Amino acid sequence: MKTIYLDHAATTYLDPRVKEAMEPFWEENFGNPSSAYSIGRTSFAALQDARETIAELLNAKPTEVFFMAGGTESVNTAIFGVAHNYNTRQQPYHIITTTIEHSAVLKSCKQLEQEGYAISRVNVDHEGVVKLEELQNAVTPETILISVMYANNEIGTVQPIQEIAVWLKEVNAQRATAGLPTILLHTDACQAAGALDIDVHKLGVDLLTLNGSKMYGPKQTGLLYVREGITIQPLLFGGGQEQSVRSGTENVPGIVGLAKALELVQQARSEENERLLTLRQSLFEGLQKNIPDVHVNGPAIITSTTDPLKRLPNNVHLSFKHVDGQALLLYLDHHGICVSTGSACSAKSQILSHVLLAIDCPEEYIGGSIRFTLGKRTTQEQIEYTIETVTKALQLLRGAGE
Ligand SMILES: *Cc1c(COP(=O)(O)O)cnc(C)c1O
Repeated sequence: MKTIYLDHAATTYLDPRVKEAMEPFWEENFGNPSSAYSIGRTSFAALQDARETIAELLNAKPTEVFFMAGGTESVNTAIFGVAHNYNTRQQPYHIITTTIEHSAVLKSCKQLEQEGYAISRVNVDHEGVVKLEELQNAVTPETILISVMYANNEIGTVQPIQEIAVWLKEVNAQRATAGLPTILLHTDACQAAGALDIDVHKLGVDLLTLNGSKMYGPKQTGLLYVREGITIQPLLFGGGQEQSVRSGTENVPGIVGLAKALELVQQARSEENERLLTLRQSLFEGLQKNIPDVHVNGPAIITSTTDPLKRLPNNVHLSFKHVDGQALLLYLDHHGICVSTGSACSAKSQILSHVLLAIDCPEEYIGGSIRFTLGKRTTQEQIEYTIETVTKALQLLRGAGE
């Protein structure tokens, strides 16, 4: 039995071209980029090349790119790094985020709350789009940072980052004349970097996080973009690498892989998005035709590539009425299909997804939620087998419950 991997939002396999680019830096060119002899300089050059490649893709300067060990570290560095520029003993400084962020953001904010910062968590609408008016009303004189994810990892909702940035620019202009702190905008683009435009100037963000493991790059690689002129307090202290924002010997093969991965996904972006939209439509229509009582979580599933994407093109998130999502996941796993549940719900434990709760997924549906996320190796044949298998599973699981 072959594995059908439909969990690309969890992580991805390495693109063979990424693996190839990394290959020379394990054993042959293993030097420390800080060393002065030639093999050190080779590593340093590779690091600089990667930084320049990435800077170009982000429309940023190489000095604005800080390599991190994954998305979590980057998000933590952004949030604590900005917050710790301000002393809460002087004033209760304030940070705004949303209710549907990744736990890296939510838990960092929770920790800052314990340190004395004030946190606002803005609600989203039924599609998972942040309520702009609520966001705007949340601003106080003490606000220093807004962190809104670019695309959601569960339901694929794309947030209006550009719109937020345009509004924030006006707000900051007024705040400057009033002597109030500038509000910085951070976006967690871990899910978006493979599918959306990551031009930081077009987006208008001050800080941006992305990682390698969601776009066919190596795990535990990532970066934080920090706009020139912004000071970030480091989380790690040591040898002063990455302009002292992130000390520690650089992960040269990982960084080379990250740059290659980002280059490849961004080059193939529009073509691959179109392919994924077609496959997704086929999966969604097949399931909808065969199975009654299905609820779509997140923005409507449509194929149009002419409209700006409101939902990541590879994401299908469905809730099946009166079905245990965990049981469905195990059935599919038994038949070689990897998906993830939106929530684990059983008689003993009830852990519901904070995202599904935030979008008010109906009660009789929420426990039967499944996320399918397609990717580069997904084929029409796999989609057809998946439709067939999910249909059988539902007949079995619903039948058994009656
Ligand atoms: C995966 C993910 C992260 C965490 O990244 P790691 O590389 O696993 O540390 C953060 N935010 C979002 C939106 C993600 O999808």
